[in-house]
Amino acid sequence: MTAANKAYLFHKGSELLALCSAESLPISEIMLRRETALSDVSREAVFQELGETLSTMRASVERGLSEKQTSVSGLTGGDAERLFGYAKRALMGEPMARAVAASMAVVEVNASMGRIVAAPTAGASGILPGVLLTAAESRGWSDAALCAGLLTAGAVGMLIACGASISGAEGGCQAETGTGAAMAAAALVELSGGSPAQALHAAAIALKNVMGLVCDPVAGLVECPCIKRNAIGAANAVLSADLALSGVESLIPFDEVVAAMKSVGRAMNPDLRETARGGIAASPTARALQRKLFGQEEP
Ligand code: SF4
Repeated sequence: MTAANKAYLFHKGSELLALCSAESLPISEIMLRRETALSDVSREAVFQELGETLSTMRASVERGLSEKQTSVSGLTGGDAERLFGYAKRALMGEPMARAVAASMAVVEVNASMGRIVAAPTAGASGILPGVLLTAAESRGWSDAALCAGLLTAGAVGMLIACGASISGAEGGCQAETGTGAAMAAAALVELSGGSPAQALHAAAIALKNVMGLVCDPVAGLVECPCIKRNAIGAANAVLSADLALSGVESLIPFDEVVAAMKSVGRAMNPDLRETARGGIAASPTARALQRKLFGQEEP
């Protein structure tokens, strides 16, 4: 790697913002330069791969909304379709309801063993495609613009992975659906014309909104509460993006929020980190379902 290429490496939000500011570039362009430097591939090759990622995301949304998905366990499925059909009457407004339904659709596809893009994980795979693809319909964003949005989202996901965790087993659901919401919020801000600083304000707000959220999958399956946590994650992303775009700032800088999330994850009892021993996974109904499915209580 040349010294010039090394200039685009960053490990903190503050370093990313300094690069954006020094070169008057959006986060997506800095991330693209980082990718080409690290992977030694052309810009065109990165965009080709992003285009394939976007196609997989789109296919998972379309599949989840057009056919009722039933999970392998039989515990979940069909809720995305239900909300999509109700969207015109939704109290949250039709665009938000459609984004939420699209987000749930992807995780229902995952639960039925369909193909999705982890964003950042399979459990949190719905938020990013759900909000981006739904917003693109009303805003007229091209696929090239959406690929740039994926770069911005990727930069935020990478920063959280470096500074804290994107794993429910390590950091609870705040690390999975919280990160998914932060990634989507930052992408929405950039695609809407917001500044890099506003994008990281949105990401910080999204993370703070779910600080301390535990990982408690019923019967150890990525279904309940995961599908509905993607629903609230989509709403969180849109809300956080709108707050930042309106000029609302996160009082606590992004890097400090990520550090706080890491320490909260470390303080979490292991029963609340994907072991299915705490939270709603320990409720009488969840335990009865687990016995029915697996003939045992502990996964
Ligand atoms: S509850 Fe756990 S498994 Fe489900 S989405 Fe959240 S972190 Fe992932």
